Amino acid sequence: MDEIRYSLKKFDDPRLTAKGERRAAVPYSGTKTLWFNTGTLCNIECTNCYIESSPTNDRLVYLTLADILPYLDELEDAGETQIEIGFTGGEPFLAPQMIEMLEEALVRGHNVLLLTNAMQPMMRPRVMDGLISLRERFNDKLTIRVSLDHFSAKVHDQERGKQSFEIAMTGLRWLAQNQFHITIAGRALYNECEETARSGYSALFVSENFSIDANDPVSLVLFPEMLPNSDPPEITTECWGILDKSPSEIMCSNQRMVVKRKGEKLPTVIPCTLLPYDQRFNMGQTLKEARKAVPLNHSYCATFCVLGGGSCSA
Ligand code: SF4
Ligand code: SF4
Repeated sequence: MDEIRYSLKKFDDPRLTAKGERRAAVPYSGTKTLWFNTGTLCNIECTNCYIESSPTNDRLVYLTLADILPYLDELEDAGETQIEIGFTGGEPFLAPQMIEMLEEALVRGHNVLLLTNAMQPMMRPRVMDGLISLRERFNDKLTIRVSLDHFSAKVHDQERGKQSFEIAMTGLRWLAQNQFHITIAGRALYNECEETARSGYSALFVSENFSIDANDPVSLVLFPEMLPNSDPPEITTECWGILDKSPSEIMCSNQRMVVKRKGEKLPTVIPCTLLPYDQRFNMGQTLKEARKAVPLNHSYCATFCVLGGGSCSA
């Protein structure tokens, strides 16, 4: 209990660490990626889902087309007319207006990245028809990144539930047959080196005739297993020099995420995809308010970003 209190105190003050040193902050350099979290509901419940999505978690509710329009307008006003718009969840294809939101972002000229598990919510006739129409109109401006936790059904199913690999493969085959631009989000297991993982995925892609280059880190993004460190060090302004790292390498230097919390009328802008529930990271309701430095006073800032090198973007 004492240890937990100490840990909370450690990341408490946005300006100072528990030892009184100046806390590091990441300045904003403009929008490379604007994420929309379309809601935390998901058709499955994965063991290591960092956002704790499930068929019952609706702490972040569905975004609608009306919710995202002001943010797309703000980007246009700021001259950020061809950036990456990312949609993540939960499972985005559960959101009733997902196709409409994709269309609007594409019509405005952005590159759009949608993260999905490619399971049943995507394979509904209305969604499939909508996707085909978007692919015909916008081709590779739309990238669909499918989560495939491992190249073997056994490990994937351990994380995602029985038969989930085969169901995701059905979705992937449909995407490939219909010539979507597909990338894969995989996982590098602790006991497996990157080379082994890439060659395993490569064999799978070849056997399925998917034109995905497993050696390209954008086509196959390998995320490390995200295991929170209960007591990471705090990041001070001195750390950048000591670690030979620049704040511009950190996600929140050029990304923001829009979420809509249950019970709130309007969406909120937060710094990144990793901290959806921590109200201390609310930056306001507009992108304008969110164009400011982010103090790194969450343990994830240390564990995943500064010490671990996490990124969600393509
Ligand atoms: S499919 Fe994705 S969002 Fe859904 S529970 Fe699994 S990791 Fe979380
Ligand atoms: S978790 Fe990472 S990206 Fe998010 S605010 Fe902290 S340092 Fe920035």
